[in-house]
Amino acid sequence: MEVLVADEYGFCFGVERAVEMVEDALAEGAQVRTLGPLIHNTQEINRLEAEGVSAMTVPLEADGGITAVIRAHGVTPQVQRELESRAARVIDATCPFVTKVQKLASRAAANERDVVLVGDPNHPEMIGVVGYAPENTYVVRDASEVAALPPLRKPLVVSQTTLKLKTFLDAAEAVRAKTSEAPEVVNTICSATRDRQDAARALAGFVDAFYVIGGKHSSNSVKLLGVCQEQCERSQLIETDLEINPEDLRDVQRVGVTAGASTPKWLIDQVVEKLRSIGARMENETALAG
Ligand code: SF4
Repeated sequence: MEVLVADEYGFCFGVERAVEMVEDALAEGAQVRTLGPLIHNTQEINRLEAEGVSAMTVPLEADGGITAVIRAHGVTPQVQRELESRAARVIDATCPFVTKVQKLASRAAANERDVVLVGDPNHPEMIGVVGYAPENTYVVRDASEVAALPPLRKPLVVSQTTLKLKTFLDAAEAVRAKTSEAPEVVNTICSATRDRQDAARALAGFVDAFYVIGGKHSSNSVKLLGVCQEQCERSQLIETDLEINPEDLRDVQRVGVTAGASTPKWLIDQVVEKLRSIGARMENETALAG
């Protein structure tokens, strides 16, 4: 049985960077607390907890000489200031792609322009961006919400980094139709999600079974599973190698592996290792039977 891993899988740039920043702080002996869970992966959170990392829910908890970590989603300037006033040190692990959206919003507001931010208003990344231009930003989920906005001044249209391109383009078009001044449209979607889906799609047609490694509640992992299932019916979402049933692989010649953007490499390596050992065992059994 051949084990084929998708070309793009696992940690995205921003998550990998945030975890590395936490590891570096731990190596320096810091007592690290993240504002909210650092990533959406139970096994990685458990590993970090074992190393002494804990999560806090509000900046008020950032006392006692701790090192506070802002995760990849970013926060509002107000929350950042509060952390800075309480914690011994603040590590800003905001993903640079998110920082770009924050800066665009802040600059537009300074120039008395309105910002239309397309995405989920309840997502932490969006709440953080709105904080950079609270008086000037309108959040819309999609094009259908644009008509209800008040008249817009020299609008800038930007997006949540994980949004679908079509949703963003449709909303930008709706803003264009609504305003007499042509809006400035900046596509701030990050390619991490799409790259993982494209790589999974490219592999799914060549394999008999596919394992997607990721949290059952991780939306990017669930979407990745959907992409795999389009071409490979025997696609499964698993959190760890313990969920692999060797019996499911009896007649499998090729098995594919991919992982969501919050899945650490060590979990992926464990799955690949397990699949290879199942493959080797099946080969031995076949040889003995022959
Ligand atoms: S998905 Fe993209 S924007 Fe979000 S943390 Fe990862 S690299 Fe950064």
